[in-house]
Amino acid sequence: MSASSEKPNIVVVGGSFVGSKAAELIGAEMYKTHRTILIERNTHFNNLFAFPRYAVVPKHEHRAFLPYTTMFAHLLPGAVSVHRGRVTEIQADRVVLEGEESIPYEYLVIATGTRLTPPGSMITDTKPEGIAYFQAHQQAVEKAQKIVIIGGGANGVQLATDIKDFYPDKSVTIVHPRPRLMHAFHPALHDIVSARCAELGIDVILNDRARIPPGGFPTDGSTFNVELASGKHIPADLAIMATGQTPNSAPLRPCCSPPLHCPIPLSDAEPSMRCC
Ligand SMILES: Cc1cc2nc3c(=O)[nH]c(=O)nc-3n(C[C@H](O)[C@H](O)[C@H](O)COP(=O)(O)OP(=O)(O)OC[C@H]3O[C@@H](n4cnc5c(N)ncnc54)[C@H](O)[C@@H]3O)c2cc1C
Repeated sequence: MSASSEKPNIVVVGGSFVGSKAAELIGAEMYKTHRTILIERNTHFNNLFAFPRYAVVPKHEHRAFLPYTTMFAHLLPGAVSVHRGRVTEIQADRVVLEGEESIPYEYLVIATGTRLTPPGSMITDTKPEGIAYFQAHQQAVEKAQKIVIIGGGANGVQLATDIKDFYPDKSVTIVHPRPRLMHAFHPALHDIVSARCAELGIDVILNDRARIPPGGFPTDGSTFNVELASGKHIPADLAIMATGQTPNSAPLRPCCSPPLHCPIPLSDAEPSMRCC
């Protein structure tokens, strides 16, 4: 992957929904003049949409991780090559990977997405570790009797409804700091989701915020209280974080010192991707 390669590189960083599709479209069009290289830190494509369910319902977790080996098999050979690695720094003409390897580019697509609190995102990079994580999470859910979900966005609502659907006898509570569940979506969704929560017997606490202990909530199955900003407390033996997502913009940070070296002009960057 050196600068002396015959064709210049188009590098796509991040091989999830956006990056893999971008690489596919670019590779199909540009293979005659450019090499399209998809750089992804995970060994397998993470099927994020169903992560909350894999974290609750046993025996499907292997389906969460899809191989990259056949992803571009429908394109001409070599149209897209997948390179496993974590980009630590984006420079004006190259990306630097962990281990100090670097790959030059003529064009760059940054599709590094976001990171959610687990189990919304995976804490590991490989399929066997991911499967082990989900299995351990499923066992913690199975063992617990009083489960508190911190956050009532899409992730928290899916976790809560899946748990209560699969284990109707467990107590499940959602704590959400906003007046509506799934507040980022259409306002009418709150009524639909609330009705389903009521039907399943999920307790929903709105307009209140859980205090997160500095070291996180206990994970050993012991009973503890989830303290709320209002002064209320909820007894629990498992608390699951579903508190949203943060952008994976760290690789952009080193290139912004001083800010004038930033390859992405501030005026063109999404606010969440602004690193300087
Ligand atoms: C539970 C859940 C359900 C959802 N359901 C839906 C749905 O039904 N419909 C829908 O449209 N959307 C849904 N979404 C949203 C959807 O998952 C996101 O919009 C989508 O994942 C965004 O894709 P992305 O490629 O931009 O980023 P991400 O999916 O966040 O992927 C970023 C990729 O970049 C890689 N990466 C990050 N940093 C680096 C680095 N430094 N070096 C190398 N690689 C890196 C990561 O490993 C990852 O593979 C859901 C999300 C969740 C969590």
